[in-house]
Amino acid sequence: MKTYDTQIVVIAAGPSGLSAAVQAAEDGAQVIVLEKAATVGGAANMGMGPLGIGTKYQKQQMIDISVEKAFNMFMEYTHYMVDARLVKRYFAQSAETIEWLEDMGVEFEGAFRYFPKSEATWHIVKTDRSIGPRAASFMNKALYSKALELGVTFLMETPAKKLLLEDGKVAGVLAVDKNGEEIQISCKAAIICTGGAGANKELIKQETGFTQGVDMFNFAIPGLVGDGMKMAWEAGAGKTPVRIEMAANIEGCDELPQGVSNVFSQPNLLVNKLGKRVMNEDHMQNATYLSNVVSHQKDRVCYSIVDTSILKSYIRNGVDVVSLVRTNPDVSDFYEGIKMAQDNGSKDFFVADTIEELAEMAGINVENLVNTVDDYNDYCSSVDEEFFKDKKYLRRLGKAPFYCAKIRPGGYGTVGGVRINENCEAITDEFEPVPGLYCAGTDACNIYDDSYMFLLPGNSMGFAVNTGRIAGMSAAEYVEE
Ligand SMILES: Cc1cc2nc3c(=O)[nH]c(=O)nc-3n(C[C@H](O)[C@H](O)[C@H](O)COP(=O)(O)OP(=O)(O)OC[C@H]3O[C@@H](n4cnc5c(N)ncnc54)[C@H](O)[C@@H]3O)c2cc1C
Repeated sequence: MKTYDTQIVVIAAGPSGLSAAVQAAEDGAQVIVLEKAATVGGAANMGMGPLGIGTKYQKQQMIDISVEKAFNMFMEYTHYMVDARLVKRYFAQSAETIEWLEDMGVEFEGAFRYFPKSEATWHIVKTDRSIGPRAASFMNKALYSKALELGVTFLMETPAKKLLLEDGKVAGVLAVDKNGEEIQISCKAAIICTGGAGANKELIKQETGFTQGVDMFNFAIPGLVGDGMKMAWEAGAGKTPVRIEMAANIEGCDELPQGVSNVFSQPNLLVNKLGKRVMNEDHMQNATYLSNVVSHQKDRVCYSIVDTSILKSYIRNGVDVVSLVRTNPDVSDFYEGIKMAQDNGSKDFFVADTIEELAEMAGINVENLVNTVDDYNDYCSSVDEEFFKDKKYLRRLGKAPFYCAKIRPGGYGTVGGVRINENCEAITDEFEPVPGLYCAGTDACNIYDDSYMFLLPGNSMGFAVNTGRIAGMSAAEYVEE
């Protein structure tokens, strides 16, 4: 068996692991990183950037957000069900973390909202392209280069398998290298950062009740199967609820031109299978709210419906609401996209000449949908008596053909599992630290209670980078002692 000796083993090289490694090395510790995949960055390579509060960008852009405001918003949102000390420490450090990242070469486009009702806390990483998905891979590259510069050793394609304890303290980590050979690393501290269990169907079913691919469609990034949680629990760390970081999903859109998802994300009529409205559609842009709403309906499905005059208006003028993920208001490729879906035999989109026919095709209660559309059209001429939707989004449904898309619960993966304190020490259910064990990022992200906080966007990558740093600081201090 190959053996190594170091002070700190960081288990995984997503943004939390990379930040932990850089911070611990900056604080003088000797660090080895074990990474299961062949590349660093984890799920964050698909994302756009972390949260920051009170940053220079917000000051320059005259955005009114402070740690106090964000903290109070957050604690009210979660009904004080979460660790206020951890939330406060994370938010208070977040502006300095943006500068820490800049010092290693990360550039930011500025601070942005995800959707109009959110705060501008999302710090989008600048790339060699225009703003868009995968920008945060540039941040991961900078963190990786900094770690190498500081002398951190990376063992790639080498998943950690088990924590070794002596007298209840972390003493080493067992892993398997890419040739299948077992390796043992002696260390004084380990930091678990393995990104949750978004690809583990059984664990998701057991912990959340959702059946992935049947009534919930999340990003299931290969390799994220809950290894870190299991190792931490086995070593004595306490367990917190594992939840899906919810974000609604318009089924079957990924392969189609963006106009399709853009149209069906607009705040138009949204109904359940019973043909009834389910929310004030103004809030559909908050993907967590939308996913929560859908997951509480019959068969966990809702339907977004538009008519031809709405489409024509969007094509002439652009859609009502854009997000940073779908920035382009131009949806002139909608018809081409729907035709592609029909040609592919998709069962996720429906087109019909009457509301009755549309309801039958989609499996919605016909009579109720006809009545709902009738009432909705009345609200369009006066006010939305049912859910108080903003008048500017009330658009009548009258001109055939009518178009409809299925909306399902989805998510970015899991959050939570390992109990930590504000120093990112893994703690038992009795709140005692497991000596030498730390946890950061998604595995330890217990700060949202039941629903991801999309009103302060960048929150999960922000939590990953900031708790990674906190874990790195705490572990470096522990090994020095
Ligand atoms: C499409 C998409 C877009 C997103 N965009 C944003 C965004 O813009 N802003 C935001 O705040 N959040 C965003 N998120 C969420 C964000 O990416 C995550 O919160 C973040 O990546 C979590 O970081 P992490 O380090 O905890 O885990 P991850 O980034 O998931 O990394 C986990 C790492 O652990 C490794 N690993 C697993 N098991 C082992 C093992 N046994 N041994 C060694 N290594 C192991 C994996 O290979 C992986 O590299 C997005 C997520 C997705 C899916």
